Amino acid sequence: MLILIEIQSRKKTRVEHQGFNREHHHHFDKARYVIDSAARVAVVGHLRPDADAIGSITAVVHALRYLGKRARGFIGQAQEIPRNLLTIPGATDIELTAELPPVDLIIVVDCGSLDRTGALADAIAQSSRTLVIDHHASNPGFGTLNIIQPEAESTTVILADLFKTLGVPLDRTLAHCLYAGVLTDTGSFRWGTPQMHLLAAQLMKTGLDTRRIAEELLDGNSVKDLRMMGSVLSGVTLEQIGELGVAYLIADRDTVYGHSSAAVESLADFVRVVDDADIGVVFKETSPGRWAVSLRSSHIDVSRIATQLGGGGHVPAAGYTTSGKTDTIVAELKNVLDDISLEK
Ligand code: AMP
Ligand code: MN
Ligand code: MN
Repeated sequence: MLILIEIQSRKKTRVEHQGFNREHHHHFDKARYVIDSAARVAVVGHLRPDADAIGSITAVVHALRYLGKRARGFIGQAQEIPRNLLTIPGATDIELTAELPPVDLIIVVDCGSLDRTGALADAIAQSSRTLVIDHHASNPGFGTLNIIQPEAESTTVILADLFKTLGVPLDRTLAHCLYAGVLTDTGSFRWGTPQMHLLAAQLMKTGLDTRRIAEELLDGNSVKDLRMMGSVLSGVTLEQIGELGVAYLIADRDTVYGHSSAAVESLADFVRVVDDADIGVVFKETSPGRWAVSLRSSHIDVSRIATQLGGGGHVPAAGYTTSGKTDTIVAELKNVLDDISLEK
């Protein structure tokens, strides 16, 4: 039986990690060395990118160019980047590809595992110079050098620190990229540490229009999208599965096709905290019979559940992909949830 760890235990982890700082900076020094010795760098983020993935790619590309490097950003998928994420400066230059050009170094950001780099996974596995920068606790450290800080709210939080070591000044463009990651990976600053607010303050001081950024990344919806959301939300189901209350939404292909991915992704925010539910779930049919599933919770570790289903993520937000008919995929999740005990 899988025992879930309560979110409160993160506080303890945080304290334990303070002793890690020296080691982090040791890794930063090594990172500086590998970056210094590279002239051409490829920067790769994860499949189905979110704002932390895009903001991390664009921030690293921007910083490397300041340092006089030839840097380009890549994602290993053919599917276009969602329009709202293209507002992040430099995002429109990210190349969607299955091949990398010859480079001296590959920097992989915000990817918890190699397979999340999609079509670029083989190229990355074969490279002898890869620097992985990430905040997924489950990251096995698949780079030749790894900076993995599970206590960081977003990958961009780690980057803000790294750029200090590298002597890259914080301008408004860089701040915009970093802010995009920290804003969205903290559920709009709902969870995180005091450092998160200190960083946000520092970023805002460059003159960022944070209201506009939030509108672009999170709040903008068309009337058509609102109707789609209403239709999905009206089908919300609350069920007791084993010891867990589960609120779930089915966003099937017929309902979501042609709608903005920002609107579809925002559905998860509505089921994160529902009365009598411990977990919120959104099943999103991304292509016929293929589903991306989002898991959310305010008090139990959903990354453990996602991992059991071949995915991953963080304590409050995780996901996995699966395929099949609606009934089958719901049953598959219920099967896993049935075995989980809610340790209070
Ligand atoms: P999402 O529900 O798509 O917003 O994803 C929430 C978090 O779960 C992401 O930040 C990722 O860390 C993780 N995640 C989502 N889908 C997957 C997947 N298929 N494999 C591994 N991790 C995932
Ligand atoms: Mn991400
Ligand atoms: Mn992230």
